[in-house]
Amino acid sequence: MNVWIELAYLLAAVCFILGLSQLSGPKTALRGNQTAAVGMVIAIAATIPLLHFTIPGVIATLAAIAIGAPVGAISARRVQMTAMPQMVAAFNGVGGGAAALVSISELLSPQFGAHPAVALSFPSVFALVVGGISFAGSAIAFAKLQGILTGTPITYPGQQIVNAVLALAILVLAVIDIAVVSSPAYFVPILVLALVFGVAFVIPIGGADMPVVISLLNAFTGLSVAATGFVLNNFAMLVAGTLVGASGTLLTTMMSQAMGRSLANVLFGAFGQVQTGAGGAAATAEGKSVRAGTPEDVGTMLAYARKVIIVPGYGLAVAQGQHALKELADELEKRGVEVEYAIHPVAGRMPGHMNVLLAEANVPYDQLKEMDEINGEFPSTDVALVVGANDVVNPAAKNTPGSPIYGMPILNVDQAKNIVFMKRSMRPGFAGIDNELLYDPKTIMLFGDAKDSLTKLVSAVKAA
Ligand code: NDP
Repeated sequence: MNVWIELAYLLAAVCFILGLSQLSGPKTALRGNQTAAVGMVIAIAATIPLLHFTIPGVIATLAAIAIGAPVGAISARRVQMTAMPQMVAAFNGVGGGAAALVSISELLSPQFGAHPAVALSFPSVFALVVGGISFAGSAIAFAKLQGILTGTPITYPGQQIVNAVLALAILVLAVIDIAVVSSPAYFVPILVLALVFGVAFVIPIGGADMPVVISLLNAFTGLSVAATGFVLNNFAMLVAGTLVGASGTLLTTMMSQAMGRSLANVLFGAFGQVQTGAGGAAATAEGKSVRAGTPEDVGTMLAYARKVIIVPGYGLAVAQGQHALKELADELEKRGVEVEYAIHPVAGRMPGHMNVLLAEANVPYDQLKEMDEINGEFPSTDVALVVGANDVVNPAAKNTPGSPIYGMPILNVDQAKNIVFMKRSMRPGFAGIDNELLYDPKTIMLFGDAKDSLTKLVSAVKAA
């Protein structure tokens, strides 16, 4: 029997790994999700024979499934694309919370005793701490993204010291529980402190940095699940937890790199706390001038271009202008203009935000070009059409040491022959800094909501 269960777990692990590799490309991503889901069904089915059935246990399990399954399925089906980060936060949080609860139940079990082997007590306490932090941190991330809590960093004097004291207290209690005696007198306060630490750790981080934090907490959940898998001697949990831990860590690192910031800066920098003033006022104060155009000017320019690169950003998602953008691209292609989309890895507010947004409007995948692939093409581009993007094209990342985004890889829009910025004002983007490209002589500003302006551009191109 056990051999069959182990084989089923192995099959589930193969499905998880295959699913992950399929998720790495837009064409196979849907299949990847399905493959991983099949793996999860196999893992759950294989676990059922391992359960020790008692009547209260069966009732509790069925009640949990009856509540959890519809809540999960309905919320996942209904969620708006823009609310995806908070849904991931919620799902991730319950995973971490579940790992902490399993760990508590193991620590309380009579077989565990007061002096278990370190090989058992260490992963149990580890899962308790990390799962607890992940649960509470994810709840705060959810509240910030959902607007229940303010998105601006909540800071107070001595915050780092308070956090350090909390971390130290958890460490001391954990060492006592593992090395001296395992007792509720230690592991219950450990869980409470881990929950408090989760809250304290996430509140000083700005709302827009939450996707990075969620990815990190996701890695935490994975590690705590892997540790619980070790305690329960469950191969499927061990593999699935390790995969989540590794992929969450990789995604966190990649996002930080794409933002040109260290993970420490994201976690402890309280980024977004001090926003610089509105760009418009700064511009006049500094005597810089901008060239504003009409939809007709820009429409004519686009219609007679040979090659146009569209650079979508957060503002396109806010305006929900993806369908109008696709219509504009179709119109240009009908006239023989070559159109491509330049996708910066952190454009928008979550990983893959622009890919998902453009996929909603059926933009062909082969027109979406990643930064490294397209950066060399800007010098031969007649018009770079920047739609609601700002930071990801800001040359300060290359030219201004000391700028908050210095070192962040950007799209080389500044090398295009002409640049059009579509935004509502001169206000800065997420990083809160002015963009010198807005004042460049080859830049035209098309002010207004991106969706409205795109709709006007479609008519202007048709009329050109
Ligand atoms: P930015 O935040 O730099 O700029 C967005 C621009 O969109 C703003 O300047 C705003 O200008 C404009 N805008 C907003 N609403 C509209 C609208 N309705 N119509 C037209 N324009 C609009 O976005 P980017 O995509 O360039 O850069 C993303 C930023 O977010 C980076 O700094 C990145 O590091 C950060 N980030 C990204 C994450 C990710 O995973 N993708 C995660 C966390 C942070 P105006 O107000 O004048 O209209």
